[in-house]
Amino acid sequence: MDGSCVFCKIIAGEIPSKKLFEDEHVTVIHDVNPAAKTHLLVMPKRHYGDILALDDEALAARLHGAIQRAARESGVAGGGFRVISNCGADGGQTVPHLHYHILGGENLGPKLL
Ligand code: AMP
Ligand code: ZN
Repeated sequence: MDGSCVFCKIIAGEIPSKKLFEDEHVTVIHDVNPAAKTHLLVMPKRHYGDILALDDEALAARLHGAIQRAARESGVAGGGFRVISNCGADGGQTVPHLHYHILGGENLGPKLL
């Protein structure tokens, strides 16, 4: 728990969020400022600053599984979706707690690559 981290506070229940599901290690919430019809955030409950800091292979696998589950349970799996993890200043990361965006529910338009 990083006391200054907004996602740690969400995970601890200190800040309200719209949760899709959680398990022992992972929480999935709806983004408060959605960039697509469906915009989810998949995050580990333990604080890691970004994708570079994650040093737990089992947790990485759990996060991957949570992305699959979130895509299916939110309904975006059928039509397709994107998964993005912004990292650092050039990546445009604004919340320094590792998270994966799931964007879908509509045609997402032009791709970066
Ligand atoms: P990033 O810019 O990749 O670090 O993504 C951070 C995301 O967190 C943005 O899409 C924000 O809209 C979202 N966000 C920030 N605060 C909250 C919050 N309290 N509840 C839900 N999503 C949030
Ligand atoms: Zn945190």
